[in-house]
Amino acid sequence: MEHSDKKKIRVAIAGNPNSGKTSVFNSLTGMRQHVGNWPGVTVEKIVGKTEYNGVEIELIDLPGTYSLSPYSPDERVARDFLLFERPDVVCVVVDALALERNLYLVAQLIELDIPIVMALNMMDLVKSRDIEIDIERLSTLVGGPAVPTVGCFGKGISDLLSKFIEAAHSDYCPVPLNYGKENERAIVEIEKLISAAPMFTLKCHTGRFLAAMLLAGDTEIEELIYTAVGDDSLRAKIEKIRHRAESREGVDSEAILADARHGWASGIYHETVKDPRHDEPTSTDRIDDVLLHRVFGLPIFGAIMFVIFWATFRIGAFPAGWIEAFFGWFGGIVSVFLESIGTAEVLQSLIISGIIGGVGGVLVFLPNIIILFFFVAILEDSGYMARAAFLVDKIMHRMGLHGKSFIPIILGFGCTVPAVMATRTLENRQDRLLTILILPFVMCSARIPVFVLLSGVFFPSHAGLVMFSMYALSIIVAVLTARILKSVIFPGLSTPFVMELPPYHVPVPKGVAIHTWERAWSFVRKAGTIILAGSVLIWALGSLPPGVEYAGEASWAASIGRFFEPIVKTFGANWHGAIALLFGFVAKEIIVATLVVLVGSGSTPLETGIANMFTPLSAYAFMVFTLIYTPCLATIAVIKKETGSWKWTIFSVLLGLSMAWVLATAVFQIGSLL
Ligand code: GDP
Ligand code: MG
Repeated sequence: MEHSDKKKIRVAIAGNPNSGKTSVFNSLTGMRQHVGNWPGVTVEKIVGKTEYNGVEIELIDLPGTYSLSPYSPDERVARDFLLFERPDVVCVVVDALALERNLYLVAQLIELDIPIVMALNMMDLVKSRDIEIDIERLSTLVGGPAVPTVGCFGKGISDLLSKFIEAAHSDYCPVPLNYGKENERAIVEIEKLISAAPMFTLKCHTGRFLAAMLLAGDTEIEELIYTAVGDDSLRAKIEKIRHRAESREGVDSEAILADARHGWASGIYHETVKDPRHDEPTSTDRIDDVLLHRVFGLPIFGAIMFVIFWATFRIGAFPAGWIEAFFGWFGGIVSVFLESIGTAEVLQSLIISGIIGGVGGVLVFLPNIIILFFFVAILEDSGYMARAAFLVDKIMHRMGLHGKSFIPIILGFGCTVPAVMATRTLENRQDRLLTILILPFVMCSARIPVFVLLSGVFFPSHAGLVMFSMYALSIIVAVLTARILKSVIFPGLSTPFVMELPPYHVPVPKGVAIHTWERAWSFVRKAGTIILAGSVLIWALGSLPPGVEYAGEASWAASIGRFFEPIVKTFGANWHGAIALLFGFVAKEIIVATLVVLVGSGSTPLETGIANMFTPLSAYAFMVFTLIYTPCLATIAVIKKETGSWKWTIFSVLLGLSMAWVLATAVFQIGSLL
């Protein structure tokens, strides 16, 4: 077999959501993709490379799928890749604790005629529960090797790699399961009819797979084949075969093959797994009795979130103080140094006020970000975040949102951009668009510095509460907007959806560390790039035209700010506020950078400058405006990309701006009356 020795192979990683695909992928490639203990985290296929025994292995992490009959754009990505790009090997990551459910996908994968390697993941949990799996028998029954792995600790990874190479170089074809005599005959009949389709020539069983999909009434494959073959009578012929099968089995076409696959999965499960506590309630069940309690579930969730915000402030205040002191000290010595070498005054001002002031002013919030996302990472990894989604799911439905929307919404509390991308798990375009439109109202982490700064100055003893109120308002606005848009623009029913509740895990320290680090690093990177650029630009506007008093009434910054002042005056902000909000369009942290650079420069300390700029009421109204209007330029770009429509993108921006203005003005005006 020397001739078939490939030096380069492609391995696709497929599997149910939450089976540990990304963890396995990361261990295989040494990459650090986002893992999370709830479905819908990987929305696009991600590519990585590694080498083993001189063979170059390209790995593709596909989005999670329960089956190859795609119900969402996300599942389609996975299916189309496997079907049309033909990797050399499919590595199917299987959650060994839920073997029966996971085997359903395996049943479909073996029809693709691509060698299969099973990563039997979560083996640590299998051991700790005294479950026994006959791995050899499983490999035989499935027709591909099963390799025990612990994805999050990188166990079993080299075994996997060597099996990939073996599989890529072997000629074996797994044996597709048998759908019963009559169905098999129908499949062969269809296979003959479509054999003229170009994709049919790919490999031996691919035709069988396509035929099975057609028998099951897969509309997309149908379109593809009919267009490719260019024979209109084909549709009628296949429909006839399908109807015959339906009336024979007494179920609809989709169920015919699905039943057989479930049967296959269940058979293999019972032959290979011995679970001493199969029917006992697991510890997950017992924890869920409390955390998902009908009455106490939501209040417990609220309490957990409140404690997290409180801790974010209380603990964060100490390191934030040190960072502030550091930048003060650092600005001081740099200033002395620049003075001593006779640097021009403009340059001194640029470095001290513009760069050190602006970037430092934003970096002060790094500890808050780290602490908040440390807690969020624990919630995510433990599996509680999926429960939170489940708890609010019922409320979501009443508000006209699809249950699955909650996954993007939870992501949106981190960053709106990946959240908008995660709406790909929604199958219906209207549900998807509706979710995209409300995501900008979900409070992303970039707004945190603004709220920490202002609530620290104006509500020092209730900062946690103010923050909590921002989160609550964000949710209320998102939900009400959804409700209104749903009844005005998108009437109609949502498709039903069953929320997956993964078992609880003790969070893996490495995973938590990676999650926290990801957020922290993206914040630092932003500070070094876009926020730095914004600070310098604002500084320049404050210093021009030449000779003007820095950030004084005659500067360009003031002219621009004054132009927009009438709009922001209704909620009590002045021209400094106007220009900060204007630049906040680029990224919300720039609001803080602007205030630091313009207000906190020179002899007045930042806190005093800001205290003079607002009253507690107008500060709160300013926060409300910041909360509601468009998160950043990147969000606008991703909305355009995902909706494919300028109309909806512009609608989204205008919606955000007008709601922000109305709400901030209402808060300020009504508050002034009280
Ligand atoms: P994906 O949705 O299939 O990409 O799954 P992820 O890789 O995001 O993993 C889901 C969750 O399971 C994360 O919390 C991982 O830390 C955890 N996990 C992954 N593999 C294992 C494993 O082998 N053992 C245990 N105990 N946890 C794992
Ligand atoms: Mg993943």
